[in-house]
Amino acid sequence: MMLKQKEGWIEVITGPMFAGKTEELIRRIRRLEYAKRNIVVFKPQLDNRFAEGEVVSHNKTKTKSINITKSKEMFLHVTPETDVIAVDEIQFLDEEAVKVVQYFADNGKRVIVSGLDNDFRAEPFSFMPQLLSMAEYVTKLSAVCVKCGSPATRTQRIVDGKPAKYHDPIVLIGAEESYEARCRRCHKVYRKPKPYKGKI
Ligand SMILES: [Zn+2]
Repeated sequence: MMLKQKEGWIEVITGPMFAGKTEELIRRIRRLEYAKRNIVVFKPQLDNRFAEGEVVSHNKTKTKSINITKSKEMFLHVTPETDVIAVDEIQFLDEEAVKVVQYFADNGKRVIVSGLDNDFRAEPFSFMPQLLSMAEYVTKLSAVCVKCGSPATRTQRIVDGKPAKYHDPIVLIGAEESYEARCRRCHKVYRKPKPYKGKI
C-alpha cells in the first residue's frame, strides 16, 4: 500500500455564475475518486435546483452529496478516515463555514469548495473574501459575457427584462432566465438617483 501523502489545505473555485465552478469541483472529485480517496461532498440545503442529495453542474454532470442547512453539520459526516471534503455553493452557508473549513484543513483534510465571489451588485459575497484569503489555492474562473463576448467576471441579475436595482434582495439560486454572465463594462446595477440638493 502507498503511504498517505501529508495533506491539509483549502482550495477555492470561484467566479461568476455560468463559469463552470461546479463542473470544476466535480472534475476534481472524480479524479480523487479514481485515486481511491475517501471523499464527503456537501451542499447547502436551499439549493434544490436539480436534485436532492446531488451536486449538479449546468452541463448536467453530477455527484452524490449530503445536503446541510448549517455548516456545523459537516462534523457529523466527517470521520478520521475522510481525506477530502468538498462543498458546492459554499457562499450560501452561514459564516461559521469559515471556521469549520479552517479546522478541517488544520487537521489534515483537503478541503475543496466552490462559490460565487461577488453578488449581483459586483460586491463581495458574504464571507467569500475570508475564504479566498485563507485558501492555499484559488481558481478564479470566468464565463463569457452574453453582451459582447469578453470574459465575464460578474453576474448580471435581470428582473422583468431590466437590470436589477441595487436594493433588490440577494437571492441567486438557479433561475437562469434571471441571471447572465457579463463583463465589467456590460454589467449594470440600477441605483436610485440621489435627490437634487441644490437650488432650483
Ligand atoms: Zn461585455
